Amino acid sequence: MCLTIQVRLVIKMKTIVAKADLENEELFRKASDILKSGGLVAFPTETVYGLGGDALNPKASEKIYSAKGRPSDNPLIVHIADTASVWELAAEVSTQAQMLMEAFWPGPLTIIFKKKDIVPHETTGGLETVAIRMPSHPAAMKLIKDSGVYIAAPSANLSGRPSPTTAAHVEEDLSGRIDMILDGGPVGIGIESTIIDMSTDTPTILRPGYITKDMLEEVLPEVKIDPAVSGRTMKKDIVAKAPGMKYRHYAPKGQLTLVEGDKDKVIAKINELVREKKEEGYKVGVIGTDETLDAYHADILRSIGSRQKPESVAANLYRILREFDDLECDYMYSESFFEQGLGNAIMNRMLKAAGYHLITL
Ligand code: AMP
Ligand code: MG
Repeated sequence: MCLTIQVRLVIKMKTIVAKADLENEELFRKASDILKSGGLVAFPTETVYGLGGDALNPKASEKIYSAKGRPSDNPLIVHIADTASVWELAAEVSTQAQMLMEAFWPGPLTIIFKKKDIVPHETTGGLETVAIRMPSHPAAMKLIKDSGVYIAAPSANLSGRPSPTTAAHVEEDLSGRIDMILDGGPVGIGIESTIIDMSTDTPTILRPGYITKDMLEEVLPEVKIDPAVSGRTMKKDIVAKAPGMKYRHYAPKGQLTLVEGDKDKVIAKINELVREKKEEGYKVGVIGTDETLDAYHADILRSIGSRQKPESVAANLYRILREFDDLECDYMYSESFFEQGLGNAIMNRMLKAAGYHLITL
């Protein structure tokens, strides 16, 4: 029997890391040259850090997949700096899509369109549609404008690790695998963009994010949520329309379990689980909130933010999962959040990070 083993080689290279100072024209020229010649530059956006390459260059897209270790059927989002670019990339732009562009761009909304031939299948993971977003982060905008390149950019993490919210997170995962990292400090939002599919008759949310269903319905009469992304369990029998949603993303190395229910019961249950696992000799972490942190008895304890400010929870989520990885936690227990507004996106990411381990009291 002949056995072929495929080894994906990523040549080690020197990664330039530099502050994304908007006044530093030489740096942005260098970053632009890298992109124009098919190289990879990680850059800050308002959601998470992106790993950018020329979206119209199939070789650059292949490099993105290989640097991240990402399955090649998981499409990339194309970042643009002006709305006119949409007509270069998309075959059809409906009036409703234009209303969304007007209302939410630049910002954390990705819109799916039918693609033009100019967009290679390497960038769209083989799909006939293309995902487009105009980011609001000034460094991202400058990079797109200066380079004149439509930038394909998935999150700048190794596939399967929590998305990066600082340049240090990008370095941890991709140093030696990409050409440059632009450090714009910690990002503002901290979870990925909302994705809405406008390539079919009914606008459908394929991934919840900072732009909520309610916000979208202020602009469009009706917005659906893809059944594969809502709810508390992994829906094995439903195919996710956003291919990325089927992968176990955002995963910390240890096992995360979410606990939901009445506040006092949740605290008591988490304390009990921590005690049990500690007795078994494991390293255990707890994710609480500003309101509850004092009630826990754990060696490794982090507040994910304030329940009064869901934005703070979104902003801290991935950083805390990475911290628990660095501390080599075996088990982590976390409070959960109401699936309302931004809470939908927060719970979607947390449930995926937990591999849908959820205890309901
Ligand atoms: P990331 O930027 O790493 O969050 O990955 C981008 C995600 O966008 C992918 O995982 C897909 O789920 C989604 N996406 C990109 N292009 C398309 C498309 N044409 N149709 C549906 N989903 C898409
Ligand atoms: Mg990602």
